[in-house]
Amino acid sequence: MSGKTTFTMIKPDAFEANHSGAIIKIIEEAGFEIKAAKLTKLSAERAGQFYEVHKERPFYDHLVNYMSSGAIIAMVLEKQNAVEDFRKLIGATNPAEAAEGTIRKLFAKSIEANAIHGSDSDENAAIEASFFFSKTERF
Ligand code: ADP
Ligand code: MG
Repeated sequence: MSGKTTFTMIKPDAFEANHSGAIIKIIEEAGFEIKAAKLTKLSAERAGQFYEVHKERPFYDHLVNYMSSGAIIAMVLEKQNAVEDFRKLIGATNPAEAAEGTIRKLFAKSIEANAIHGSDSDENAAIEASFFFSKTERF
């Protein structure tokens, strides 16, 4: 079992479609505690920094444009085995491959506009949480 913290964003497509409430309900019912939350919007520059690891991928520019196109809800979540359990809850990157009942299966529009982000490691969860929140903004 690994760490208890993960980081998520409800992405612009899901926020715009008014799915935030339903998504947060699923997250809470799965046993995750919200430790920090913020309705915000990424500039193209900040979106580019967040997804820096994908800079060489063909979809990078489009992704940066999409992630800075509208409001998002950033959250720090806690639960035992948070990173792995949350990745299971959101489902595969491509909603066509996501398991039934997962957040992406329920709400994602496409492989890019896939409703929600989830950290892929304890190390990245810490980096991503710090990208949005100071220590004093976390409960
Ligand atoms: P995940 O979000 O499941 O960890 P990745 O880290 O591989 O997926 O990719 C980051 C984000 O980039 C995805 O959530 C999605 O919004 C976008 N993305 C990934 N692969 C593609 C692709 N082949 N075409 C367009 N956008 C993509
Ligand atoms: Mg990823």
